[in-house]
Amino acid sequence: MKGTRPLKFIPMLGLFLGLASCSSNPYATTNKAYKKQVKAYAKTLRTTPVVNPGEDSLMRGDQWVGTTNFNLRKPNYVVIHHTAQNSTEQTLKTFTMPKTQVSAHYVIGRDGKVYHMLSDYLRAWHGGTGKWGNTTDLNSSSIGIELDNNGYEPFAEEQINSLLKVLAILKKTHGIPAANFIGHSDIAPSRKVDPNPTFPWKRLAEAGFGTWYNEEAVRNSVFETIIPPYNDSTATVVDSAAIPLPVLPPSTVVAVDTIPLSFQPKEALRIIGYDVQNLEAAIKAFKLHFIQKEVNGVLTDDDKKVLYHLYKKSL
Ligand SMILES: [Zn+2]
Repeated sequence: MKGTRPLKFIPMLGLFLGLASCSSNPYATTNKAYKKQVKAYAKTLRTTPVVNPGEDSLMRGDQWVGTTNFNLRKPNYVVIHHTAQNSTEQTLKTFTMPKTQVSAHYVIGRDGKVYHMLSDYLRAWHGGTGKWGNTTDLNSSSIGIELDNNGYEPFAEEQINSLLKVLAILKKTHGIPAANFIGHSDIAPSRKVDPNPTFPWKRLAEAGFGTWYNEEAVRNSVFETIIPPYNDSTATVVDSAAIPLPVLPPSTVVAVDTIPLSFQPKEALRIIGYDVQNLEAAIKAFKLHFIQKEVNGVLTDDDKKVLYHLYKKSL
Protein backbone atom coordinates (compact mmCIF):
# COMPACT_ATOMS: atom_id res chain seq x y z
CA MET A 1 0.00 0.00 0.00
CA LYS A 2 2.84 2.26 0.75
CA GLY A 3 3.90 1.97 -2.91
CA THR A 4 0.62 3.42 -4.16
CA ARG A 5 0.66 6.50 -1.98
CA PRO A 6 3.04 8.65 -4.06
CA LEU A 7 0.90 7.99 -7.14
CA LYS A 8 -1.98 9.78 -5.47
CA PHE A 9 0.20 12.80 -4.91
CA ILE A 10 1.52 13.08 -8.47
CA PRO A 11 -1.54 14.94 -9.89
CA MET A 12 -1.57 17.24 -6.86
CA LEU A 13 2.16 17.85 -7.25
CA GLY A 14 1.60 18.71 -10.92
CA LEU A 15 -1.17 21.13 -9.99
CA PHE A 16 1.04 22.72 -7.37
CA LEU A 17 3.95 23.10 -9.82
CA GLY A 18 1.58 24.51 -12.42
CA LEU A 19 0.30 27.13 -10.01
CA ALA A 20 3.84 27.92 -8.91
CA SER A 21 4.98 28.48 -12.49
CA CYS A 22 1.93 30.68 -13.18
CA SER A 23 2.65 32.82 -10.18
CA SER A 24 6.37 33.03 -11.02
CA ASN A 25 5.75 33.89 -14.67
CA PRO A 26 3.14 36.60 -15.13
CA TYR A 27 3.53 36.12 -18.88
CA ALA A 28 2.48 32.45 -18.97
CA THR A 29 -0.81 33.37 -20.70
CA THR A 30 0.73 35.67 -23.31
CA ASN A 31 3.53 33.15 -23.96
CA LYS A 32 0.78 30.65 -24.76
CA ALA A 33 -0.77 33.18 -27.16
CA TYR A 34 2.66 33.58 -28.83
CA LYS A 35 2.98 29.84 -29.39
CA LYS A 36 -0.55 29.66 -30.78
CA GLN A 37 0.21 32.39 -33.33
CA VAL A 38 3.50 30.77 -34.34
CA LYS A 39 1.61 27.53 -34.91
CA ALA A 40 -0.85 29.34 -37.19
CA TYR A 41 2.00 30.88 -39.23
CA ALA A 42 3.75 27.51 -39.40
CA LYS A 43 0.57 26.19 -41.00
CA THR A 44 0.89 28.89 -43.68
CA LEU A 45 4.49 27.82 -44.30
CA ARG A 46 3.44 24.19 -44.66
CA THR A 47 0.96 25.07 -47.40
CA THR A 48 2.31 24.21 -50.84
CA PRO A 49 1.70 26.84 -53.52
CA VAL A 50 -1.02 24.84 -55.27
CA VAL A 51 -4.30 26.28 -56.50
CA ASN A 52 -7.28 24.53 -57.93
CA PRO A 53 -7.65 24.70 -61.72
CA GLY A 54 -9.54 27.82 -62.73
CA GLU A 55 -8.99 29.54 -59.35
CA ASP A 56 -6.94 32.26 -60.98
CA SER A 57 -6.24 33.40 -64.54
CA LEU A 58 -2.62 32.16 -64.71
CA MET A 59 -1.75 29.53 -67.29
CA ARG A 60 -0.08 27.06 -64.95
CA GLY A 61 2.16 24.06 -65.53
CA ASP A 62 0.67 20.56 -65.52
CA GLN A 63 1.69 19.81 -61.93
CA TRP A 64 3.18 21.51 -58.92
CA VAL A 65 6.94 21.25 -58.76
CA GLY A 66 8.51 22.31 -55.49
CA THR A 67 12.13 23.41 -55.43
CA THR A 68 14.53 21.64 -53.09
CA ASN A 69 16.68 24.71 -52.47
CA PHE A 70 15.52 27.38 -50.01
CA ASN A 71 15.70 28.67 -46.46
CA LEU A 72 14.02 31.31 -44.29
CA ARG A 73 14.09 34.99 -45.26
CA LYS A 74 16.56 37.00 -43.22
CA PRO A 75 16.49 40.46 -41.66
CA ASN A 76 18.87 42.91 -43.33
CA TYR A 77 18.55 45.97 -41.05
CA VAL A 78 18.60 46.68 -37.32
CA VAL A 79 16.51 49.59 -36.07
CA ILE A 80 17.35 50.93 -32.62
CA HIS A 81 14.75 52.66 -30.42
CA HIS A 82 14.34 54.11 -26.97
CA THR A 83 11.14 53.08 -25.24
CA ALA A 84 10.21 56.50 -23.80
CA GLN A 85 8.84 54.55 -20.85
CA ASN A 86 9.89 54.37 -17.23
CA SER A 87 10.83 50.70 -16.83
CA THR A 88 11.49 47.48 -18.71
CA GLU A 89 8.50 45.99 -16.91
CA GLN A 90 6.26 48.69 -18.37
CA THR A 91 7.55 47.97 -21.90
CA LEU A 92 7.21 44.20 -21.55
CA LYS A 93 3.61 44.80 -20.51
CA THR A 94 3.00 47.17 -23.46
CA PHE A 95 4.35 44.59 -25.91
CA THR A 96 2.15 41.80 -24.53
CA MET A 97 -1.15 43.71 -24.73
CA PRO A 98 -2.83 43.09 -28.13
CA LYS A 99 -4.58 46.47 -28.12
CA THR A 100 -1.26 48.40 -28.27
CA GLN A 101 -0.31 46.83 -31.65
CA VAL A 102 3.40 47.47 -30.98
CA SER A 103 6.33 45.14 -30.36
CA ALA A 104 10.04 44.62 -30.87
CA HIS A 105 12.32 41.63 -31.20
CA TYR A 106 14.49 42.68 -28.26
CA VAL A 107 14.04 44.84 -25.18
CA ILE A 108 17.18 45.72 -23.25
CA GLY A 109 16.92 47.03 -19.70
CA ARG A 110 19.02 49.68 -18.00
CA ASP A 111 20.54 46.79 -16.02
CA GLY A 112 21.67 45.10 -19.26
CA LYS A 113 19.08 42.30 -19.12
CA VAL A 114 18.03 41.21 -22.61
CA TYR A 115 14.46 40.11 -23.36
CA HIS A 116 14.31 38.38 -26.75
CA MET A 117 10.55 38.66 -27.27
CA LEU A 118 10.16 37.52 -30.87
CA SER A 119 12.03 35.16 -33.21
CA ASP A 120 14.30 37.12 -35.56
CA TYR A 121 12.51 35.42 -38.47
CA LEU A 122 9.14 36.91 -37.59
CA ARG A 123 7.90 40.44 -38.21
CA ALA A 124 7.70 42.76 -35.19
CA TRP A 125 5.67 45.96 -35.23
CA HIS A 126 8.28 48.54 -34.27
CA GLY A 127 8.99 50.73 -37.30
CA GLY A 128 5.58 52.00 -38.38
CA THR A 129 5.45 54.12 -41.50
CA GLY A 130 9.02 54.79 -42.58
CA LYS A 131 11.55 54.77 -45.38
CA TRP A 132 15.28 54.22 -45.68
CA GLY A 133 16.72 54.43 -49.18
CA ASN A 134 14.11 52.71 -51.31
CA THR A 135 13.02 50.33 -48.54
CA THR A 136 9.57 51.18 -47.28
CA ASP A 137 8.47 48.13 -45.26
CA LEU A 138 11.21 48.21 -42.65
CA ASN A 139 9.22 45.93 -40.33
CA SER A 140 9.56 43.14 -42.91
CA SER A 141 13.29 43.56 -43.33
CA SER A 142 14.55 44.61 -39.91
CA ILE A 143 15.11 43.59 -36.31
CA GLY A 144 13.72 46.07 -33.78
CA ILE A 145 15.62 46.70 -30.56
CA GLU A 146 14.07 48.79 -27.79
CA LEU A 147 16.29 50.28 -25.10
CA ASP A 148 14.61 51.03 -21.79
CA ASN A 149 15.03 54.81 -21.52
CA ASN A 150 12.68 57.64 -20.64
CA GLY A 151 13.62 59.51 -23.81
CA TYR A 152 15.97 62.06 -22.25
CA GLU A 153 18.41 60.27 -19.96
CA PRO A 154 21.84 58.91 -20.98
CA PHE A 155 21.99 55.19 -21.77
CA ALA A 156 23.39 52.97 -19.01
CA GLU A 157 26.79 51.32 -19.59
CA GLU A 158 25.40 47.82 -18.82
CA GLN A 159 22.67 48.45 -21.39
CA ILE A 160 25.10 49.50 -24.15
CA ASN A 161 27.38 46.55 -23.38
CA SER A 162 24.44 44.17 -23.79
CA LEU A 163 23.33 45.97 -26.94
CA LEU A 164 26.79 45.53 -28.49
CA LYS A 165 26.65 41.80 -27.73
CA VAL A 166 23.19 41.47 -29.31
CA LEU A 167 24.32 43.44 -32.37
CA ALA A 168 27.38 41.20 -32.79
CA ILE A 169 25.17 38.09 -32.75
CA LEU A 170 22.71 39.61 -35.24
CA LYS A 171 25.45 40.80 -37.60
CA LYS A 172 27.08 37.37 -37.63
CA THR A 173 23.88 35.31 -37.81
CA HIS A 174 22.16 37.30 -40.53
CA GLY A 175 25.09 38.95 -42.34
CA ILE A 176 23.75 42.46 -41.78
CA PRO A 177 25.94 45.17 -43.42
CA ALA A 178 27.50 47.73 -41.04
CA ALA A 179 25.67 50.65 -42.69
CA ASN A 180 22.29 49.00 -42.00
CA PHE A 181 22.36 49.57 -38.22
CA ILE A 182 20.17 52.67 -37.93
CA GLY A 183 17.81 54.52 -35.59
CA HIS A 184 14.05 54.87 -35.60
CA SER A 185 14.41 58.62 -36.25
CA ASP A 186 16.50 57.82 -39.35
CA ILE A 187 13.66 55.88 -40.96
CA ALA A 188 10.81 58.10 -39.74
CA PRO A 189 12.24 61.65 -39.54
CA SER A 190 8.89 63.42 -39.42
CA ARG A 191 7.51 61.30 -36.59
CA LYS A 192 10.28 59.94 -34.38
CA VAL A 193 13.16 61.22 -32.25
CA ASP A 194 14.60 57.97 -30.90
CA PRO A 195 17.14 57.03 -29.79
CA ASN A 196 17.80 60.32 -27.96
CA PRO A 197 20.88 62.51 -28.71
CA THR A 198 22.97 60.88 -25.94
CA PHE A 199 23.01 57.58 -27.84
CA PRO A 200 26.63 56.51 -28.58
CA TRP A 201 26.42 56.12 -32.37
CA LYS A 202 30.14 56.77 -32.78
CA ARG A 203 31.02 53.97 -30.34
CA LEU A 204 28.69 51.62 -32.19
CA ALA A 205 30.21 52.51 -35.57
CA GLU A 206 33.70 51.90 -34.20
CA ALA A 207 32.51 48.43 -33.17
CA GLY A 208 31.19 47.79 -36.70
CA PHE A 209 27.53 48.74 -36.31
CA GLY A 210 26.52 51.79 -38.34
CA THR A 211 28.62 54.40 -40.13
CA TRP A 212 30.60 57.37 -38.88
CA TYR A 213 32.82 59.95 -40.54
CA ASN A 214 36.55 60.57 -40.48
CA GLU A 215 36.77 63.42 -37.97
CA GLU A 216 40.21 64.58 -39.14
CA ALA A 217 39.06 64.73 -42.76
CA VAL A 218 36.06 66.81 -41.67
CA ARG A 219 38.34 69.20 -39.73
CA ASN A 220 40.57 69.62 -42.78
CA SER A 221 37.74 70.33 -45.20
CA VAL A 222 37.22 73.62 -46.97
CA PHE A 223 34.48 74.80 -49.28
CA GLU A 224 35.37 75.54 -52.87
CA THR A 225 35.09 79.28 -53.53
CA ILE A 226 34.82 81.29 -56.74
CA ILE A 227 37.91 83.47 -57.35
CA PRO A 228 36.69 86.61 -59.13
CA PRO A 229 38.37 87.21 -62.52
CA TYR A 230 41.40 89.53 -62.38
CA ASN A 231 40.47 92.78 -64.18
CA ASP A 232 42.58 95.54 -62.59
CA SER A 233 44.19 97.07 -65.69
CA THR A 234 46.33 99.46 -63.61
CA ALA A 235 48.07 96.74 -61.65
CA THR A 236 51.53 95.59 -62.58
CA VAL A 237 51.64 92.10 -64.03
CA VAL A 238 53.88 89.96 -61.85
CA ASP A 239 55.42 86.73 -63.05
CA SER A 240 54.07 84.33 -60.44
CA ALA A 241 56.83 81.84 -61.23
CA ALA A 242 59.36 84.36 -59.93
CA ILE A 243 57.77 84.53 -56.45
CA PRO A 244 59.28 81.87 -54.19
CA LEU A 245 56.67 79.71 -52.41
CA PRO A 246 57.14 79.28 -48.65
CA VAL A 247 58.43 75.80 -47.82
CA LEU A 248 56.57 74.17 -44.93
CA PRO A 249 58.14 71.43 -42.84
CA PRO A 250 56.45 68.07 -43.63
CA SER A 251 54.70 67.88 -40.23
CA THR A 252 52.67 71.02 -40.95
CA VAL A 253 51.44 69.84 -44.33
CA VAL A 254 47.80 68.76 -44.06
CA ALA A 255 45.70 67.15 -46.73
CA VAL A 256 42.78 69.44 -47.42
CA ASP A 257 39.49 68.10 -48.70
CA THR A 258 37.67 70.54 -50.92
CA ILE A 259 33.91 70.39 -50.89
CA PRO A 260 32.85 71.29 -54.43
CA LEU A 261 30.46 74.12 -55.22
CA SER A 262 28.19 71.52 -56.81
CA PHE A 263 27.65 69.73 -53.46
CA GLN A 264 23.93 69.48 -52.72
CA PRO A 265 23.02 68.64 -49.09
CA LYS A 266 19.52 67.43 -50.01
CA GLU A 267 20.92 64.97 -52.53
CA ALA A 268 23.56 63.86 -50.01
CA LEU A 269 20.91 63.10 -47.36
CA ARG A 270 18.94 61.10 -49.93
CA ILE A 271 22.00 59.09 -50.97
CA ILE A 272 22.76 58.25 -47.31
CA GLY A 273 19.21 56.92 -46.98
CA TYR A 274 17.04 59.69 -45.57
CA ASP A 275 13.56 60.36 -46.87
CA VAL A 276 13.96 64.02 -47.95
CA GLN A 277 10.31 64.70 -48.72
CA ASN A 278 10.29 66.82 -45.59
CA LEU A 279 13.81 68.28 -45.84
CA GLU A 280 13.74 70.04 -42.47
CA ALA A 281 12.78 66.78 -40.74
CA ALA A 282 15.50 64.89 -42.62
CA ILE A 283 18.13 67.44 -41.52
CA LYS A 284 16.90 67.17 -37.91
CA ALA A 285 17.17 63.35 -38.02
CA PHE A 286 20.65 63.60 -39.55
CA LYS A 287 21.77 65.99 -36.79
CA LEU A 288 20.23 63.78 -34.08
CA HIS A 289 22.34 60.86 -35.29
CA PHE A 290 25.61 62.42 -36.46
CA ILE A 291 25.92 65.87 -34.80
CA GLN A 292 23.99 65.20 -31.56
CA LYS A 293 23.82 68.86 -30.50
CA GLU A 294 21.62 71.77 -31.59
CA VAL A 295 19.26 69.27 -33.19
CA ASN A 296 17.28 71.47 -35.56
CA GLY A 297 16.43 71.72 -39.24
CA VAL A 298 19.34 74.01 -40.17
CA LEU A 299 22.73 72.84 -41.48
CA THR A 300 25.73 74.88 -40.32
CA ASP A 301 28.95 74.82 -42.37
CA ASP A 302 30.41 72.26 -39.93
CA ASP A 303 27.30 70.07 -40.32
CA LYS A 304 27.67 70.30 -44.10
CA LYS A 305 31.26 69.07 -43.84
CA VAL A 306 30.13 66.02 -41.85
CA LEU A 307 27.31 65.42 -44.31
CA TYR A 308 29.70 65.66 -47.27
CA HIS A 309 32.04 63.01 -45.84
CA LEU A 310 29.19 60.63 -44.97
CA TYR A 311 27.76 61.12 -48.46
CA LYS A 312 31.15 60.30 -50.04
CA LYS A 313 31.25 57.10 -47.96
CA SER A 314 27.76 56.17 -49.17
CA LEU A 315 28.58 56.48 -52.87
ZN1 LIG B 1 10.98 53.96 -31.81
